[in-house]
Amino acid sequence: MTTTNRRVFMMQLAAGSALMAASAAQAQAKLDENDPQAVAVGYKHDSTKVDAKKYPKHDKAQKCNNCQLYQGKATDAWGGCPLFGAKQVAGAGWCSAYAKKA
Ligand code: SF4
Repeated sequence: MTTTNRRVFMMQLAAGSALMAASAAQAQAKLDENDPQAVAVGYKHDSTKVDAKKYPKHDKAQKCNNCQLYQGKATDAWGGCPLFGAKQVAGAGWCSAYAKKA
């Protein structure tokens, strides 16, 4: 391998690693409570902080990690939710689309 070829190879390797790191970070991005989609369904990272006046049927025992839509394990601090695409929701979180896991 010539010096030029080696340099090009190393640059390609570095670019590929940076791309993989960026996509991994994106896959694990956490949902922002202020995201308009999160605000629209009253999402909070902490179920105990949900506005009781706005959501009178909310119960503090209702959490993402016991919601039917939660894609993480019950013990995971963060997990996926189809409502928010690739962004993760907190296991202790809640939103008005909550549906108790059967
Ligand atoms: Fe959490 Fe369920 Fe709302 Fe998704 S739908 S944010 S898992 S409560």
